[in-house]
Amino acid sequence: MHASDEYNEVEHLKQLLKDQEVSAKLLVRRDRELTRAHEKIQELGQMKSDFIFVVAHQLRTPLSVTKWALDILGENAHESLTSEQQAILARGKESNERMIQLVDDLLKVDLYETGKVQYMLTVVPISELIQPVVDRLLPLAAQQGVTLEYVAPEGELSPVHVDVEKLGAALQNVMENAVKYSPKDSVVNIAVQEKSPHLIVSIHDTGIGIPPEDKEKIFSKFYRGTNAVKAQTEGSGLGLFMTRKIIKRHGGEIWFESSAGGTTFYISIPTDTTN
Ligand code: ADP
Repeated sequence: MHASDEYNEVEHLKQLLKDQEVSAKLLVRRDRELTRAHEKIQELGQMKSDFIFVVAHQLRTPLSVTKWALDILGENAHESLTSEQQAILARGKESNERMIQLVDDLLKVDLYETGKVQYMLTVVPISELIQPVVDRLLPLAAQQGVTLEYVAPEGELSPVHVDVEKLGAALQNVMENAVKYSPKDSVVNIAVQEKSPHLIVSIHDTGIGIPPEDKEKIFSKFYRGTNAVKAQTEGSGLGLFMTRKIIKRHGGEIWFESSAGGTTFYISIPTDTTN
């Protein structure tokens, strides 16, 4: 190699080194910017969470006072009210209850998101978890003209290790949706099968279905499908978000299959392995 070629080669390498240094500095700067942006997002998330918590708390007291006032009015002035006034009072009570429910849901979401919820796990047969939820939903189902059918599993299934109240609330939400989004005179079927090391609870309805474009979104906070909003004006879009959090905390999963002919939700719950 000629001396001039060597010289060119060295210069070329020097240039490459310089370029690399510039790129490395750029990368470090980008990394810092991304870290800062990430911190900012977390900070904003916390601010949003604090804001919701404070507002929900502030709303809770006046809503309870209104509930109290409406209850007293209903009890004491019932006789002297015209039927039109009674209807207005009943609508007021209903709206008030809805607001209280929403505020309670918002406060609960905050607790679950910030991981402040304590779980009390006990070992129970699956029917002890499901049957009370079905019983609680019978009045709503009757009101909607829907039959809730729980086929208790044949034979012994492994017990589950769960927080009965919280997982019960999660199951209730999925069953309640199945009833809410079903047509009159239809049946919602609940069944359980064992697929070791899990029990799989299925909740099948012949309702409005979940459109494919909503598939990824229905577990997000506040999301409500457009067909769901049309079918049922009431709903916060918080139920499935909380439900999934509770199920995951138990080491389980939730998924669904849906078509225009209805929906089946599946919930897997790990079986108790201590015996
Ligand atoms: P909400 O029922 O208050 O709207 P959820 O978080 O419980 O909120 O459910 C989110 C959305 O998932 C619903 O708005 C609806 O679009 C869809 N969904 C859930 N369950 C069903 C079901 N069984 N059939 C049809 N759509 C459903």
